[in-house]
Amino acid sequence: MRLIFLGPPGAGKGTQARILEQRFGARQISTGDILRQHREKKTDLGAAAQEYMDRGELVPDELIIKMIEGELQGAQGFIMDGFPRTLPQAQAFDRLLSQNHWVLDCVVLFSADRDTLIGRLSSRWTNPRNGRTYNTQSNPPRVPGIDDDDGGPLVQREDDKPQTVGNRLGVFEAQTKPLIDYYRNQGKLTEVNGLLPVDQVTAAIVRTLPPASGQQAS
Ligand code: AMP
Repeated sequence: MRLIFLGPPGAGKGTQARILEQRFGARQISTGDILRQHREKKTDLGAAAQEYMDRGELVPDELIIKMIEGELQGAQGFIMDGFPRTLPQAQAFDRLLSQNHWVLDCVVLFSADRDTLIGRLSSRWTNPRNGRTYNTQSNPPRVPGIDDDDGGPLVQREDDKPQTVGNRLGVFEAQTKPLIDYYRNQGKLTEVNGLLPVDQVTAAIVRTLPPASGQQAS
């Protein structure tokens, strides 16, 4: 299974990537999660990315592309969650795919309106240890502020706070939206309504997958 999840922050890409990873074994590659791990470990990349992430801006393409090349070494299946986000990233990824003789199954576009996204992001709480997210309104943890599974604390991501959310949505509009046409022109794009309940979004994605993409493994 080789998929790209495309869509604005808060549209449900990470939630669905984690579900499909568990169901089909294809690895979720979340560039946001990987960058946050680098920040935690205080690597050079983490330090270089910090100021961009705090402002809700994109980390420079060359840093991201180098990071992805490393992450994908030896990979078989993958669900790209949050990459590519710019045209140069998409073009570099196409080169990487063809060097490895990999064919993309499809690019899933998650649609959602701006007001819903703002509401979702500002009520989102995250397990910083594995990226799992909750929503204090629609999907709260059993105990407020505590992860259901590992019992550790949840945090509100700095860039989910209202002052940064608007910036991130603007960045999506300006820099990532052109990828919709890029992949539509490749005949790869399918769209799902990111506002539907989680299980319905999963079902819609699974329906769009071509037969050879590994979904029969469930
Ligand atoms: P996310 O968790 O996907 O919302 O990403 C959080 C932040 O990480 C973004 O606001 C960017 O600063 C950075 N980031 C994640 N993925 C990328 C990417 N593909 N290109 C540039 N910056 C990225």
